[in-house]
Amino acid sequence: MPSPSIVLVPCLTDNYCALLHAPSTGETLAIDAPQAAPIKAAMSARGWRLSDILVTHHHNDHTGGCQELKDFYGCSIAGPDVESERMPTLTRGVTEASKLTFAGHEVRVIETPGHTLGHVSYYIPHLAAVFTGDTLFALGCGRIFEGDAATMFASLQKLAALPDDTAVYCGHEYTLANARFAMSVEPENRTLAARVKDIEAKRAAGEPTLPTSIGLEKATNPFLRPHSTAIRARLGMAFAPDWQVFARLRELKNKA
Ligand code: ZN
Ligand code: FE
Repeated sequence: MPSPSIVLVPCLTDNYCALLHAPSTGETLAIDAPQAAPIKAAMSARGWRLSDILVTHHHNDHTGGCQELKDFYGCSIAGPDVESERMPTLTRGVTEASKLTFAGHEVRVIETPGHTLGHVSYYIPHLAAVFTGDTLFALGCGRIFEGDAATMFASLQKLAALPDDTAVYCGHEYTLANARFAMSVEPENRTLAARVKDIEAKRAAGEPTLPTSIGLEKATNPFLRPHSTAIRARLGMAFAPDWQVFARLRELKNKA
C-alpha cells in the first residue's frame, strides 16, 4: 500500500496548510485551513476531494477556510475540544485520549498548550510526521498568548521527545526571521550556521523551508536548546533552570 503523500499549500501571507492524500482510499486530509481558495485550487489541480480537516488551534489564520470547505466538500472538522466553543465549524472535539485515523493509519493527538490553551499537534507514526501548528516552528516557537512560559516549554519538550527522524510541518513560513534570531543567540553553532545558508538559498528560490525534522530542530533551534552552554553564557544565565532560559529567549525574540 503506497504511503500518503504530503503537499504544502501556501495560504494568506505566510501560513501553510498541509494536505495528505491517500491513493489507497482516495481520502484527503488538511491540517489547518487558513483560507479556502488556495486549498480548493490545490485539491482540484490534483483531482482530490477533501474528506477531513484537523485544526491545531482556534486562531483565524488556521481556521478561516473551514466553513467554506465544509460547505463545499461536506468534510468533517476535528480540533481541540478545549477550544470547541470558539470554533463553531468543528464536528468533533479531540483530546490526547482521542483515537483518530487517516486512511487506516493512527493519528495521535499531542496536547501542546502555550500559544493557545487548547493547542494540539498531530503525529502520524506511520508517516514519521508531526504537524505542530503554532507551537514548534523551524528554528522558532509560537508566541505565548494564552499559556505561560513553563507550559509552552513543556509542550516543546513533548515534541522534542519524538524520534529524531520525524518530519516537522509547522503552520507558518517564519524560518528566515527565526534564523536571524537563532544566529544572534548561538552564532558558534556550526550546524545552525550551515542550516541558515540552506534556508537563505531555499527562500531566494521561493521554496518552502519545511519540513524540518525533530533531530535538526534539537541541534539548531534555540528554543529547544536552553541547556546550550553558549546560549546560557550569552544570556548570563549559567545556572538557571532550562525553562527560565527558554522564557528569556522568548522575551528577547518578542523584542527582536
Ligand atoms: Zn496562532
Ligand atoms: Fe498562526
